[in-house]
Amino acid sequence: TTSSIPSTMRGVLCTAIGDPSVLSYRTDLPVPQPTTGQILIRNSYAGVNYIDTYFRSGIYPSPKPEILGRDGEGVIVALGEGETYGLKLGQRVVWMGSGGYAEYSAVPALHVAPIPDGIPETIAVASLLQGLTALTMIRESHHTKAGEWCLVHAAAGGVGLWLCQLLKALGARVIGTASTPEKIAQAHGAGAEKMINYSTTTSADLVAQIMELTGGQGVAAVFDGVGKDTFDDDLKVVKRKGTVVSFGNASGVVPPFAISKLAPKCIKLLRPQVFGYIATRQEFTTYTAELFRFIMENKIEVKVHKVYDLQDAQLVHEDLEGRKTMGKLLMRV
Ligand code: NDP
Repeated sequence: TTSSIPSTMRGVLCTAIGDPSVLSYRTDLPVPQPTTGQILIRNSYAGVNYIDTYFRSGIYPSPKPEILGRDGEGVIVALGEGETYGLKLGQRVVWMGSGGYAEYSAVPALHVAPIPDGIPETIAVASLLQGLTALTMIRESHHTKAGEWCLVHAAAGGVGLWLCQLLKALGARVIGTASTPEKIAQAHGAGAEKMINYSTTTSADLVAQIMELTGGQGVAAVFDGVGKDTFDDDLKVVKRKGTVVSFGNASGVVPPFAISKLAPKCIKLLRPQVFGYIATRQEFTTYTAELFRFIMENKIEVKVHKVYDLQDAQLVHEDLEGRKTMGKLLMRV
């Protein structure tokens, strides 16, 4: 009941735009009130995503101070007015929204999903946002088909490992990139057939290797969350009538360019965001059910790099931006 909800909570405030030192652990933040269409969750885990670093560093604008964090896992403790899709007080759920680095988050009911029996809570929370990003891209950004070659950059990252496993399950053949031998081994294990260390390979050599592997044709699709450093090569290695899916900026934002560069090979270029593919309850529940089914039926490994303490949010951002992580980062609330 509402009476058991305190008025203040622990959480991490992003106090200004800046390096990880702007993240401040607090014990006296106001507990949010769920507005119409929202649900209040008491979190056990807060997920960390690369996008959190964009809001912190100012690459993406947002008002400060703010509580970062786009996904989490916990218990429903209050329902706001309006449509709440049959969700119930006390249910264990995973959610996508905002304000996750805290004990309580008020999030849209539309993006709250009960955790199915048989899926541990840490696996569910590690899967939702990054898994849905990968799943919606292979279904909608580029409808991937069996047998075709795909290139996945940062293949040992959170979204990267999902892409490797989902593409493999579809029968596609994955070429991945990563920056260390350990990451290369991890992505191999997730189904990448061929891995290239792009931190020790020249751009010309990377392009040559991919063209050779694909019989001179190039790949049917590129999935690129790295951005600035890889975009130019993407246009070189994609095949005629192929698709470049640019979905992130871990190395920096792709600069403006002349669209006529797409003309010689009739390249399709997309810049999707996951929330755009799960904007309705129907889309969200359909894709979430497919993701959970995939986890249960394929016995896949959902790689959790580490479960940090909420107090260590600065270190979490340092590790993520320092390219020290593989898979999903979580914080115990
Ligand atoms: P990751 O776990 O993939 O971490 C980012 C990885 O990017 C690093 O581990 C690193 O892998 C690679 N990288 C390459 N160049 C750099 C650089 N200069 N600095 C830091 N890292 C670099 O993060 P996520 O899985 O959370 O996200 C992956 C990408 O997907 C991000 O760009 C993110 O914004 C995007 N994304 C987009 C979504 C959307 O809706 N459009 C939704 C979710 C994620 P390595 O060391 O192997 O190079």
